[in-house]
Amino acid sequence: MKHVREQFIAAPIHVTGYVDGAFAAADGADIPVTDPATGKQVAILHESDADTVDRAVRAARRAITSGPWAGASVAARQKALIAVHDAILENADELAALETLNTGIPYSQTRNIHIPRAAHNFKFFAEFINQDGGEVFTQEPGYMSLVTYEPIGVTALIGPWNMPLGLTAMKMAGALAFGNSCVVKPSELTPLTLYRLFEIIDRKGIFPKGVVNLVNGNGAVTGNALSAHPDIDMVSFTGGTETGARILSALAKGIKGGAMELGGKSASIVFDDADFDRALDGALLGSFMNNGQMCLAGSRLFVHESFADRFLEAFTRRVKALKVGDPFDPATEIGPMINRAQMDRVIRYAESGLGEGATLLAGGRAHDGLKDGFFIEPTAMLATSNALSICQDEIFAPFATIQTFRDEDDVVARANDSRFGLVGYLWTQNLERALRVAAGIKTGTVLINTPIMRDLRTGFGGIRQSGIGREGAKGSRAMFTEMKSTIIALEAPKMPKLGAGA
Ligand code: NAD
Repeated sequence: MKHVREQFIAAPIHVTGYVDGAFAAADGADIPVTDPATGKQVAILHESDADTVDRAVRAARRAITSGPWAGASVAARQKALIAVHDAILENADELAALETLNTGIPYSQTRNIHIPRAAHNFKFFAEFINQDGGEVFTQEPGYMSLVTYEPIGVTALIGPWNMPLGLTAMKMAGALAFGNSCVVKPSELTPLTLYRLFEIIDRKGIFPKGVVNLVNGNGAVTGNALSAHPDIDMVSFTGGTETGARILSALAKGIKGGAMELGGKSASIVFDDADFDRALDGALLGSFMNNGQMCLAGSRLFVHESFADRFLEAFTRRVKALKVGDPFDPATEIGPMINRAQMDRVIRYAESGLGEGATLLAGGRAHDGLKDGFFIEPTAMLATSNALSICQDEIFAPFATIQTFRDEDDVVARANDSRFGLVGYLWTQNLERALRVAAGIKTGTVLINTPIMRDLRTGFGGIRQSGIGREGAKGSRAMFTEMKSTIIALEAPKMPKLGAGA
C-alpha cells in the first residue's frame, strides 16, 4: 500500500465539494494537503466558499421537501445505508491507505479497525431503524397520546482530523437513517477518505440528488459558512472544545441545537487489586493507539502506590520500546503527528511539564522517523500534582502522565478534577469497588477493565467541556430527530365549557 504515497506525491489529487449530485468546480482558495510522514503535498484542496456552502444547503433542503428522499420508506433508507456499508468494505484497502497517507495513523489500525468500523456504522443504523418506533400512552382515560420521531431536516456534519472517515461516517449513517439530508465538512487537514467515499457513492448512484453533499475548506471560511447558515436545522460536530463553543454561538442566533463531541483528558485508575498485566496492556493501548490522537485516550494515569514502582518500570520500558516509523510499515506502532505545529506543541508540553516539576520517564523529543515527517518520541511523565498543565490540558499525542495515589476517595476527587468529562477507566477486580467508583466518576462513559471500547447500542459523549449529546442508537435519534407529541381525545373531553351560560 506504500505505493499510494508515491502515486499521490507524484500527482496530487484535486479535492472539491460535492453539491446536488455533482462535484463542484474548483472555485475557492487552494489549500495544500500534506502527508505527515514525509511533509510532502499529496492533494490540493479547493476551498468551498460561502456560495458553494449555500448551494449545498439549498440542495439538501430540496432533497427532503421534494423528490424520493422526502418521506423515504424504512426499506429505501436501509437499502441506501447497506449500499454504503458494502461500498466501504469493497474499497477498504484503498480507503485505509488514504486514511494512513493523510493522517499518519498506522495502516494496521486504519485497515483493521477504522475502515471496518466506518462501514459498520451504516449497517448498525440500517438495522436500528427497522426496530425503532415511537411510543403510545393510554394511561389517561379518554385519551391516547402518541410520541413520534420526525427527521430534524438539513444536518451539518463537521468532523475532525484524527479519525476522519470513522467519526464522520457515524454522523452520516445516523442522520440519513432517520430520514435527513446532510452537508458534510471534513477537516481541511484530512479530506481524502470522505472525498473518495463521495466519489464511490456518486459512481454507484446510491442517493437521490442533494441528499448527501460535501463541502471542503478551513473552519473560518467553509465551516463558519455552514454552521452559521440560516437554513440548516442542526450541527453535529466532533472536534476541539473552543471550536464547539464557536459553533454553539452561531447556532444560538437561530435558536438551534448542536450535538458536540469535544475534547477529553480521561483518567485511567489502576487500583491495587487490578490484574497487573491487563491494566498495563490496557493503559498502553489507551494512551498510544491512533498515535495517541484520540478524544477518549486514557492518558491521565493514576497508579496505586503499592505497586507504583513496578508499574512505572514496566510502563516506561514498554513506552521506550514502541516502534515509531513509517505508518505503512506493518511493524509500526506510532506514526507521525498530524503536522509540525502539533509536533512542536507536544515538545513544548514536555518542557513545561519539566518546568513544573514533573519527571520525564520516556520521550519528550522529536524522533528521526522519516525525513521531513512530524515524528515525536512516545512520552511518559511522572506528575507530582494533577494541577500541572500536562494533567489538565488535552495534549492529543502519544503522551501519558502518571500520578500515584493511596486512597480511593482521593483518587476519585483527582480524576474528577478536570474541565473535561469524556471517559473514566477503572482497573480493579473488586466488583463493589468498580461499581462504587464508576458511580462517582463524572464522565459520559466509564470503562472497566478494558481500554477504548465503543458500543453503538449505548451512547457515547461527554459532560462538562467534553460536549453535549450522545452518539449511538437512541442518542443519535435524539440528535437527528424532532420528538413530536400527538394527543387524541377518544371521547368528548370532560372540560369546562366556556361561554356556555349565554
Ligand atoms: P478542530 O476543532 O480544530 O476542527 C474540527 C472541525 O471543525 C474541522 O473540520 C474544522 O475545519 C472545523 N471548524 C473549525 N472552526 C470552525 C468554525 N468556526 N465553524 C465551523 N467549523 C469549524 O478539531 P480537530 O483539531 O480537527 O480535532 C481534534 C479535537 O477533536 C480534539 O480536541 C479531540 O478531542 C476532539 N475529538 C473529539 C471526539 C469525541 O467523540 N468527543 C472524537 C474525536 C476528536
